[in-house]
Amino acid sequence: MTATVSPQVADALRTLGPFDPEVCMSCGTCTATCPLGIDVLPRRVLRDAALGLEDHLLAEAEAIFSCLLCRACESACPAGVHISEDIRLLRRYLLRKEAR
Ligand code: SF4
Ligand code: SF4
Repeated sequence: MTATVSPQVADALRTLGPFDPEVCMSCGTCTATCPLGIDVLPRRVLRDAALGLEDHLLAEAEAIFSCLLCRACESACPAGVHISEDIRLLRRYLLRKEAR
């Protein structure tokens, strides 16, 4: 997939609430912990959001809305990323995009 980088994406997400994927170390612990076993949850989704890869986020919408918000990943994250809150903000962002 070609990637269009939009620096405005992370800025737009920060206007919706506290958004902190940039502290992610990309260790993969969260993905290994997630009970859903969906490849892109949550590490790649967070990376794509931090990088402003909007095309990727749109393609990952189903995974983003599948998240159970169980916080198992968040409890295991060594960097203290607020993963469930970040996913909530991503949902709000995608819903707003869809409403336009
Ligand atoms: S466990 Fe935390 S630091 Fe590691 S990839 Fe997931 S969000 Fe990033
Ligand atoms: S909060 Fe979402 S991404 Fe994290 S472990 Fe639960 S289902 Fe997976």
